[in-house]
Amino acid sequence: MKIDIVTLFPEMLTGYLGQSILKRAQEAELLTIDLHNIRDYAAGKHQITDEPPYGGGGGMVLKPEPLFAAVDAIRSQDDQTKSEKVILMTPQGRPFTQAIAKDLSECERLIFICGRYEGVDERVRQHLVTEEISIGDYVLTGGELGAMVVVDAVTRLLPGALGAEGAAETDSHATGLLEGPHYTRPNQFRGHLVPEVLKSGHAANIKRWHREQALRRTWQRRPEMLLSAELTEDDRRFLATLAHESAAELTGNDNN
Ligand code: SAM
Repeated sequence: MKIDIVTLFPEMLTGYLGQSILKRAQEAELLTIDLHNIRDYAAGKHQITDEPPYGGGGGMVLKPEPLFAAVDAIRSQDDQTKSEKVILMTPQGRPFTQAIAKDLSECERLIFICGRYEGVDERVRQHLVTEEISIGDYVLTGGELGAMVVVDAVTRLLPGALGAEGAAETDSHATGLLEGPHYTRPNQFRGHLVPEVLKSGHAANIKRWHREQALRRTWQRRPEMLLSAELTEDDRRFLATLAHESAAELTGNDNN
């Protein structure tokens, strides 16, 4: 995969991209990430990247010419047949989810445009961008953190990216559920013990425990996710016992 990030502040991104799984994925040539400074594509002696908005109002708006020029230059370096998305980071975009990360991980090239100030000229959104993504219902100073969030979530889904560090397919949201709790050594910490089943060596029981913990956690924290999760008959029975327990707690009455 090829990732290009178009930003006014490439230095903000280099630290994060150069560490841990993102670093190793690049070293293993699972992906290449290039940063492009918008200023380098701005014409004229002063390389102006932003101007006040037409019609007045506060703040500055990123000009269209350098953003189109940056994307043209990125495309010209590469095979034109690549499956590509040009993503504008914006609080007005589609809320980012694991499902979107999965779709993006199947593209050959992702080009991110990081807005700043009041945002970007509307013609960028209308005629250059193919996707608009928001990382949440709040407003950040710029699109760089959002682009990092998306790049990170996509990278860990590339085959081979996680190595021994975990399996993306059992993570929260990948299965339609939240993942259950994890424990590591020591067995006893400040009087709190690791659940016996995890030390039993009984693979089927351990697997079922993990599944039930994931169901319990999802039921407690994000019950709406259970409406679209793929559930087995055993899962449904377990959820029914949770509902029964909770009803008994509410009424203070355990009438088993
Ligand atoms: N005036 C814009 C509005 O009300 O929609 C907000 C501009 S914001 C201060 C500057 C830039 O930060 C945006 O162009 C976008 O690239 C980025 N940004 C801010 N919040 C974001 C979010 N929740 N998700 C993704 N990008 C965001």
